[in-house]
This record gives sequence, C-alpha cells and structure tokens, in this order.
Amino acid sequence: MIIMHAVSKEDSKILKCGVCRANISDLSAGYQSEFLFIPICKKCRNKFSKDDIELILNLMIAYGGYFGKESSEKFSLKKYILNVISEKENMDSNEINMKLMHTALLHGISPKEYIKKLEEIVKLH
Ligand SMILES: [Zn+2]
Repeated sequence: MIIMHAVSKEDSKILKCGVCRANISDLSAGYQSEFLFIPICKKCRNKFSKDDIELILNLMIAYGGYFGKESSEKFSLKKYILNVISEKENMDSNEINMKLMHTALLHGISPKEYIKKLEEIVKLH
C-alpha cells in the first residue's frame, strides 16, 4: 500500500472515490483496489463486491464518468439495450457488452441490477 504512506492528511481531503467520486476524508477507511490503487469510499465498499469494484473501475477508466453520474429517472435500461443492439450490428459484441454495462453504471444501476434486467429482457425476446 505505497499510496497510503505517500498521501499526507492534507492530500487526503481532495481524494475522491474511484467509483462514485465522493470525497474521501478518512483514507484509512478507504479500500484500495488491489490492482489499480484507487481509493474507494465506505458507502461503495458496503454496496459492491470486490469484483464489482474492479469491474466498475476498469469501465470508468476505459470510458470515463462515474457511478450515478447521470439521473436514472428518465432512463430506461431496456429501451437503451434494445436500441444499442439494433443500431450497432457491426460493433464487436464484447464492446457492446462493455458499453451497455458502462451506461448502466453511469445511471446508478449496479452490476447485479444490470444482469437481472438483462436476463428479463433476454427472456422476453
Ligand atoms: Zn464511492
């Protein structure tokens, strides 16, 4: 945990959670991603599994943004998924999967909720 020693008390005030961008004031309570050395706030550590956190961090690094950045109020995951699938036929399926998950995360939909919705949609079609 090299980073923990290198960060002074002052610096820790401006550290932000790698998942939701909340300020992290107490670094000792923040979980460091094992692979990415990014601090995670308490709320996110309680909400997500370790695997989920790695997944979210990787997607945010690749595509930008953070968990819950966009409002989920008018967002229909089902509509979005069906749109992307019909529009991007030429896109690599792995890329589609990552894009879909990333968009869900931006709207505050957790990986678990996302998988559940996806299963429902697949069943209907
Ligand atoms: Zn967080």
